[in-house]
Formats: sequence, structure tokens, C-alpha cells
Amino acid sequence: MIYVKHCLFFSLIVLVIGALLFPCSSSQKTINEKKLEKLHREAIVWDCHNDLAYRVLYEGLDIGNRLPAGHVDIPRLKKGGVDVQVVALFIQNYLYPDKAARQCFQLIEAMTKAIAKNANAVELARTGSEVERIVDQGKIAIPLAIEGGHAIEDNLDLLRKFHELGVSSMTLTHNLSHGWADSSGDKPRWNGINDLGRLVVKEMNRIGMVIDLSHVSDDTFYDVIKTSQDPVICSHSGCRAINPHRRNITDDMLQALAKNGGVIGIVFEVGYLSSEYAKARSEQRAIAAPIFARVPRIEDIDLRIAIEHLSQGRDWPLENLPTIEDLLNHIDHAVKIAGVEHVGLGADMYPRTPSPVGIRGAQDYPHITCGLKKRGYSDEDIKKIMGGNFLRVWKKVTDKKS
Ligand SMILES: [Zn+2]
Repeated sequence: MIYVKHCLFFSLIVLVIGALLFPCSSSQKTINEKKLEKLHREAIVWDCHNDLAYRVLYEGLDIGNRLPAGHVDIPRLKKGGVDVQVVALFIQNYLYPDKAARQCFQLIEAMTKAIAKNANAVELARTGSEVERIVDQGKIAIPLAIEGGHAIEDNLDLLRKFHELGVSSMTLTHNLSHGWADSSGDKPRWNGINDLGRLVVKEMNRIGMVIDLSHVSDDTFYDVIKTSQDPVICSHSGCRAINPHRRNITDDMLQALAKNGGVIGIVFEVGYLSSEYAKARSEQRAIAAPIFARVPRIEDIDLRIAIEHLSQGRDWPLENLPTIEDLLNHIDHAVKIAGVEHVGLGADMYPRTPSPVGIRGAQDYPHITCGLKKRGYSDEDIKKIMGGNFLRVWKKVTDKKS
């Protein structure tokens, strides 16, 4: 009898935990699952940031296979009903000023080949209209986005060249204040952008590239908003009102973004979602960093980048991970401040770092649709957040010159 009671109690606990972690599991009857599936299928589901290109170039993996570990590959994207996966071409900051473009060309080539190899399932999307056509054909659209304006090595010809090769967006900085723009992760050099930075912004407007302000300093953010004639985005950021991290944006910035017609892609990166988790991560990093700093520098750049990429994850505690509810809290706040027309998703799930509890990877995007429904969003608003808003910006910015 005692054993039976324990079993019942245990089953109840499992059910409660299951419902918390997987809010749309079949044990939940409060949401009509069929309607939810239909809504998720009808929505253009758009993730505005992922580092898949590193897995292709430095791990030699085929994105057509279900990849070991990690969160994103074609099978997972299909399972999660993801229609658009923006793939970031992250450029190591230490390659500036004269080796950054080389890495960008390598990443573009690697992704172009990976997309061609899986042409039955994915296609490179250069513009918003191309995204629509590809999704209509039942395939996953892949726009390419440079992460770090230092990739252009202060040279507008390189910007135009990358655009010609199919890149449709660029974060103006990563964690480096470079020759024309300041980053939130470095000391200011220009207190925003300088004259060359204004030329870059105008050239991106002219050729139809989406300007991405995730990672930039607050001064750069406002300078660019003032200069750009087009809507801009923050592809993968959170709300600073919830977690006062430099990578998140303030309410005033959210309002400025809304006025500009832009969109914030709410990041899933656990350190940006929760300040408690960010603190635990900093503590762990403080232990690891001095030890790794003593490792002799590897002269072969490609090998060095590959090793750094593969050692990601060492700074990420597995305790007290934020959950899908934390992610939904950031979405709620951004919607409250900026309006529902200006919020989307920009996951940034890195292969060996944890994702929020309840989202194992791209296969779990339906949990977000469900979470939004449970919080009372209308079907129309859910479609905007899941991807409609990013499609609007992409069409407005990238279609005009094509
Ligand atoms: Zn980033």
C-alpha cells in the first residue's frame, strides 16, 4: 500500500514537472492541440540567429543529418516547423584588421556548399521575396548574416562583395569596437559610429542589407537609428528591464526600435534571459578563464578557431537554467513596451551551450507557439511574433534593389 501511494505521488510529480517543462504535452487539455498545430504550421516561423556555419566549417558536419548534440540541423528544423533559419557568419574579433574577411569568405563558401548539398530541403534566401517563394515551395529558407562589421575590414568594397555573394544582413559589431563602430563588449572608440560608420549604414540602406544592432554599444544603437532610412533589427537580444545585461536593450531602445519600424529577436541564450544564471556563469568563467589564458597560442588560425569552437560550453553551469517561461517573460515585456509588431525570435542556440528548459532545440518551437497562446495572445499576434514581423522588415529592406 505504501508502495502504491508512493507510486501515485511520484506519478503526480512527474506529470506536474512534465507540464511545466513541456507546456503543450498531451497531458494538457487546456489548449486545443489540433488548432495549435494548424496555427504553428500556418505561421512563418523565423529564427533570426544561429551559428550552424561553424559546425559546417570547423566540424565538417552535414546539416542534412541529425547532428550529435547541439540544437539545430535540418531534421530538427523540419520537426519544429521552422521555415526560416538565419545563419550567422561569426567573425572572430582577433582577426581584425586584416584576416577577418578571409574567415567571412570561408564561412560563406562552406554554407553555400552545405545548402547546395541539401537543395531538396533548404535554399539560400537573398531577399524577403525569396524567403516567401522558398517557404511556399515547402523548403527552409536560409538568409546569411555576418556577425561583426569588422568582417569588412573598414572597406565598403568588401561589404558590397559579401552582399553579392548572398549575405543579406550584418550585425555592425560583435564584442569589438573597430574602425567605425563601438561595441557593448569593448571600450568605446568613437562614442557611437564615426563618419565611415555613417557611410556603411547608408551603403547598407542603398544596396538593401538589413542592419543588425545586437552587440553594439548604446551610443552606436542611437547613432544608427538616427542615420538609417530603413528599419533595423536586433537579431538576438533580450530586455534589460528583466536582466540588466549589456547585451540586452533598454525600454527606451525598444521604443526607438518600434518608432524606426524595426524588430527585436528575443534571444534564448540563458545568460541573457536570467541575471541569476548570468552571475553563476560569470563565477564559473572566472575560474576557467585564467587557466585557459595560459594555454600557448596556436599559430594556425583555422585550428585555433576550431579548438575554441569545440571548447565552448565550459563556462555554462547546468544548475538553475532559465526555462521557456523566462523566455516568454522577455517576449511579453518587449511586446508591452515596443508593441507586437516589433518582436520576433533570435535564438542563438550554440552547439555545446544549454538552451532554456523546455526547448531542447529547434524541434521544440511549437512549445513557444503554445506558450504564447496560453498567455492569451491572438493567433494573428502569434504569427507576427513567430516570424511575420521579421518577414516584413526583410521585404522592406532587401527587396527594394533586387
Ligand atoms: Zn551574438
